Amino acid sequence: MFRVSADSAAGDGLSKDKYMDNFSHRGFETLSIDTLDEYRSRGIYLRHMATGAEVYKVENDDAENVFAFAFKTPPPDDTGVPHILEHTVLCGSRHYPLKDPFLVLLKGSTHTYLNAVTYPDKTIYPAASTVEADYRNLLRVYGDAVFFPLLKKEAFEQEGHRLELDEQGRLVRAGVVLNEMKGSYSSAEAVAGDASLRYLFPDTPYHWDSGGDPRFIPTLTYEAFRAFHRQWYHPSNVRVFLYGNSSLDETLAVLDGEFFSHFQKKDMAAEIPLQTKWNSPRSFKTFWNASSDMDEEGKSTVSMNWLWDEITSPDAVLSSQVLSSILLGHSGAPLQKSIVESGLGEDISPVSGLETDVRQMVFSAALRGMEERRVSEFEHLVMDTLEKQVKGGLDTDLVEGAMRMVEFRSREIRGGSPFGMRLMKRALRGWMHGRPPVESLAFEQPMARLRRQVQPGFFEEMIRVRLLENPHRSTVTVSPDPSMQKALDKQEREELDSLHREMQAKGPEEADGRGGMEELRQSLEKMRQFQEEPDSADALARIPFLSPSDLPSRVKILPLEQGLTKGLPWFRHDTFANGVAYLNLAFDVSGVEAGLQSLLPLLGRALTEVGLPGRPHDAVARELALKTGGLGCSLEASSVHPESGGGIKRHLFVHLKALAGQWKEALALTLDLLEKADFSNEERLKDLLLEMRNDYRAAVVPSGHAFAALRSSARHSRASSWEDLWYGVSQLQFLQQQSEKVSEKAYLKKLSEDMTALRKAVFSKDNAVLAVTADADFAPEALNNALHVFSSLSSRVPASGGGAEANSLPQLFTHSTAGEGLAVSSAVSFSALSIPVPLAGTEEHALESLLAHILNTGFLWENIRMKGGAYGASVSVSGMEGTFTFTTYRDPHIVPSLRAFRDSLEWAAKNLDEDTLRVALIGAVGKELRPLGPGEAGFIAFKRQIYGLTDAIRQHRRACQLAATAEQIRSEAARLLSLWDNCSISVIAGSQALDDAARKEPVLSESRIQLPG
Ligand SMILES: [Zn+2]
Repeated sequence: MFRVSADSAAGDGLSKDKYMDNFSHRGFETLSIDTLDEYRSRGIYLRHMATGAEVYKVENDDAENVFAFAFKTPPPDDTGVPHILEHTVLCGSRHYPLKDPFLVLLKGSTHTYLNAVTYPDKTIYPAASTVEADYRNLLRVYGDAVFFPLLKKEAFEQEGHRLELDEQGRLVRAGVVLNEMKGSYSSAEAVAGDASLRYLFPDTPYHWDSGGDPRFIPTLTYEAFRAFHRQWYHPSNVRVFLYGNSSLDETLAVLDGEFFSHFQKKDMAAEIPLQTKWNSPRSFKTFWNASSDMDEEGKSTVSMNWLWDEITSPDAVLSSQVLSSILLGHSGAPLQKSIVESGLGEDISPVSGLETDVRQMVFSAALRGMEERRVSEFEHLVMDTLEKQVKGGLDTDLVEGAMRMVEFRSREIRGGSPFGMRLMKRALRGWMHGRPPVESLAFEQPMARLRRQVQPGFFEEMIRVRLLENPHRSTVTVSPDPSMQKALDKQEREELDSLHREMQAKGPEEADGRGGMEELRQSLEKMRQFQEEPDSADALARIPFLSPSDLPSRVKILPLEQGLTKGLPWFRHDTFANGVAYLNLAFDVSGVEAGLQSLLPLLGRALTEVGLPGRPHDAVARELALKTGGLGCSLEASSVHPESGGGIKRHLFVHLKALAGQWKEALALTLDLLEKADFSNEERLKDLLLEMRNDYRAAVVPSGHAFAALRSSARHSRASSWEDLWYGVSQLQFLQQQSEKVSEKAYLKKLSEDMTALRKAVFSKDNAVLAVTADADFAPEALNNALHVFSSLSSRVPASGGGAEANSLPQLFTHSTAGEGLAVSSAVSFSALSIPVPLAGTEEHALESLLAHILNTGFLWENIRMKGGAYGASVSVSGMEGTFTFTTYRDPHIVPSLRAFRDSLEWAAKNLDEDTLRVALIGAVGKELRPLGPGEAGFIAFKRQIYGLTDAIRQHRRACQLAATAEQIRSEAARLLSLWDNCSISVIAGSQALDDAARKEPVLSESRIQLPG
């Protein structure tokens, strides 16, 4: 969390002049010291004198320190060389000659963030930690990786591409990035997003795919790959972003001493050229590799894309963000509304919006699920809508709402990733293109300038100049081509067969680089050795680890006040929230009659989307943007800890966030919606229901592991079986059944009545508990305002048919099968296996969570991902539900993975040693050290309270973990094995794969469900 005192920027007694010279002994000159009052920070801009490497430190009191190495890496072609390099530099370096130091860090560091990302023009290696010694360990390992990687040929072939022989002895291509990009080229949205950008830049490096086009990846040679590293991964081309409260002097000592001082200055000539402007718009058409069994009609995505100003100007970026928000910010925004309501296609495409990761911004408006022949209708629709805005003038509330939305986003401290990462992205915008980082970091000044500039007609003029009269525009149509994959496969097969014949014709003595079969056999053998040989103990010992004594022995406690006012129970969490206040309202839904439970997700979704009496939904959407930073709902079922009474609780949560200045208006609007949301518009309800059905259908394959896990744990947990009804396979089935009835007038009438009844039954004062999170100086007032508003909520209206039926259980929990297959159209599978285990508060639970971390970063990763070829595999333990659940993600196998789950426990029961445990302990406890955003912290504290997860239980778990021995974990693994007969299995896969699996694992034939697809 971002906690700094207001005067820290100048308050440590260092005069500016003294500071200016401070780092010359480390080899750095100071370019500027910047006041960053809006972040309560100071910026220090330095240059390494010998190499020209630039460093920018945002210094403040935040303990979550961030560093990032950023290199400009413009792609020279479509081979994906920047992407393959990003993977391979992490496969061992001069000081850390391991196969995968990244994985070792994942296992045993207290990092709160660790990543590597390839952008269209740069590659970034960021990490964050709240423990200073850990932070410096990460800096050493990452710095060594980028400046001194081993780049072994085997690592290049493993991550990039290589030739192999398949089971039938045919030549095939393999490689991690090759497979990753094949997956990406099979996704309509990924292809559309890529094309909407690249076609606008035919004369610059943005024209190439930095990720790699699978057709061209195999043309990348090892020599060209190494040359790319030599060319760009040099101190003269690096920008190092630093953030937080750690010692800058010590960090500079590492940067200079271990990395920069080993290089000579190099002339970089690395500017990304500006794209020459077009005189007239252009059209493009491209395809994605659709699977052959899908319906082609009406599946195209079409985007219109405009080239805008340079991202180096913070004023241009800000006004562009506001304009994008005006046009596309919510369901009441004019361009979004006209695209959605046009009936030309299914849905606005996520490609829509503003792109600020390339030197010149790109604005896109896109529709998916459209018939290809209607492209010109789409173009007319968009241009007509824009013209109407210019002629008629934009609604003033719409403009003000968009300004506030952009302001809100910049102010809010969100959880999820470190605050420093957001500042890094902002700093790099100008910095990567030669501007001082402070320019693009600033937000408040450009915002104040924009507020002064905005007069009636300001954004209308922008629409005219940047959109209507801007000739640098593309229309890109992306259509499915089911024959494309076959043709590509056929072409590849022929090439490989002919190469194979050529290789077979060569004798072993003709080692001419292209190689014969003998050379292939040798390189396959080298690859096998490289992959199978474990890292040497000596190499492993070089990775710096914390010792368990560096870990905090006490868990962090989130303060929470509570009380009861006017019949409403309340909680209050005071924290630094940067002027934003958060409300969570929990409504108990256990009294809702069983027949209506499945409609609760629709209630949550529709609440903010149906409008109010006399105010249509788009007007309400504009009002929400004007008065709030967001209003939404979620559903949750959870067991209550037995120490706090046991049983389960089911809630519909309403979440509101708003700036302190708009808090009262935001509360009043929320109350209006809870009491009066208007479900009488049957057509609108129908659209929302169909939209939701489409979202669920589209979610099964990308999130198959989550669907399967909920399903398998629902056999052991009543709470999970409720969640399956709301979020899982049961909800998907329910939505599918409902959607088949929407053409019946009587059905829609009943739905509208049910929704109204449900709204009244759920949103009553007797069901509610309220929690507020805000800055300490505003929190008491924020709470009083909320209590005043919601104490006027009406009292309970008993829902018809409630009572005994209301407490019945979803069918899923009560049925008796131990295994099931869920059939979908998918080439890969998702398996889940759950074992019932003891709850949080027990020693077993603490040991199991350590065991889970060990298996996730060790056995499961190595056996199911590295050897089995699945994209992911993991195990998680729920202390509230008492489940230990294994899952796989995008897995080519089923039965071997189910066996690997069991094998992992057998391995642990026999082989787990103290060294492995010591490293895992640091990683497992480290995961709990991630700072929470204020809204996130307030909600977690609230939930711990209502479900009875006390601080004493959490502290007991930490103590058990710190005291754990390898012997204890081994016997815990053995205990889990003894429970194996109680496990339940759910597998989502294609029917054929399920049939094959059921022959080897008969439990899978006990139940088979065909999912709608
Ligand atoms: Zn990748």
